[in-house]
Amino acid sequence: MITNDATLSPNLRSWLPSAHQAGTDFPLQHLPLGTALDEEENPVLCTAVGDRVVNLDMLMHAGALGDDDFAEAAHAALHHGNANALMTDARLWPLVRQRVQAWLLDAAPGGQQARRLREKALTPLSETELVEPCHVGNYTDFYSSIDHARTVGSMFRPDNPLLPNYKHVPIGYHGRASSVVVSGVPIKRPRGQTMPEGAAQPIFGPTKRLDYELELGVLIGEGNALGQTIPIDQIDRSIFGLVLVNDWSARDMQAWEYQPLGPFLAKNFATTISPWIVTRPQLEPFRVAGPQRSEGDPQPLEYLRTSADWGLDVHVRASLSSVKMRAAGAAPLVICTGNARTLYWTIAQMVAHHASNGCPLEAGDLLATGTISGPTPEARGCLLEKTWQGNGPDGKPLPRKPIELPTGEQRTFIEDGDEIILTAWCERQDLGLRLGFGECRAVIEPA
Ligand code: MN
Repeated sequence: MITNDATLSPNLRSWLPSAHQAGTDFPLQHLPLGTALDEEENPVLCTAVGDRVVNLDMLMHAGALGDDDFAEAAHAALHHGNANALMTDARLWPLVRQRVQAWLLDAAPGGQQARRLREKALTPLSETELVEPCHVGNYTDFYSSIDHARTVGSMFRPDNPLLPNYKHVPIGYHGRASSVVVSGVPIKRPRGQTMPEGAAQPIFGPTKRLDYELELGVLIGEGNALGQTIPIDQIDRSIFGLVLVNDWSARDMQAWEYQPLGPFLAKNFATTISPWIVTRPQLEPFRVAGPQRSEGDPQPLEYLRTSADWGLDVHVRASLSSVKMRAAGAAPLVICTGNARTLYWTIAQMVAHHASNGCPLEAGDLLATGTISGPTPEARGCLLEKTWQGNGPDGKPLPRKPIELPTGEQRTFIEDGDEIILTAWCERQDLGLRLGFGECRAVIEPA
């Protein structure tokens, strides 16, 4: 998609030097939305640019965001550090973002007051405490990657890996919003019930098969009332932006509990999200045609069809760092590189489907894609797939092939002290544009 959005022009220049640092996740054209704690530990809405966090509340009170009706409407949200209030009206954020950028562009610092604002409203990213970017009231996780569904399906059903509904209906389950936490919060290894291989009785204890899942999540903007739907051709206003999602999973608990109702305690102990919302305006140039359906694949039903491009050209990556690796100063080991454009179901289809029965979606609801796996081994977005070698002639799984870490350690699943780091970025060289998602990371603590 070609963009006419002036806020994405590569020719923009800011008075802030780090906005132009090569390779920065947060160039001047980006301006994601986040929430930070100020000196009094109050939440304030903010954006990131270069190596700085910009306090939007301070900008607003200094009059830098204008004083018209729009500024008035944004006032309440910004004043109370309430991202959800800002997300409820699809017109507000794009305008706030435009005005923040204009403030960052302004060549003349003006008087002493204006210069002081530049100093006070900006804090170093490395020293700013970021919290959840909005209140996540509900969390749903989909299963949109056909490569993930196929690989996982072939573990359990070698002859029939994809269930017959997969190409017709976006599959999902309701997760637990109360355990959604922001990047950096340590995750305690969960305890739960499992049935060990060959045992006669289940046991209760720490999971032995802790896994990560590399996903993107849509944060809902404008929602729908109970009994109403969100038609897919009007989906724009409902897609506020994206974050990275790590859907932590205890595979031994999952294998024992998932039938017949699906994931439960194997998933709801923790879900980590990244602190910066990459919002719809800056995602526009990275929208691509949805996946091509193969010859013989069914066309989606009418309510899941759209003329708009809702595929996403977003590069995703997962890395692992063990305690020993960190002590040795070794860089995290990349264990997955993929791209969200391989997803079989688009985010527009996920949102339209979710609301198609009249289930109300609310601003701040999180709809995650499910593990993003690609067709190649390096694009397998969880360890369940990554270390799996297929089934033997007897139909039983072959021994897992561990990942070798630079310290000589091996991993088939996550050990205590390991840190999982998810990153993502969008890049268009023809537009001179590269936008980062920041990081979604967490260390595993013992049970
Ligand atoms: Mn998942």
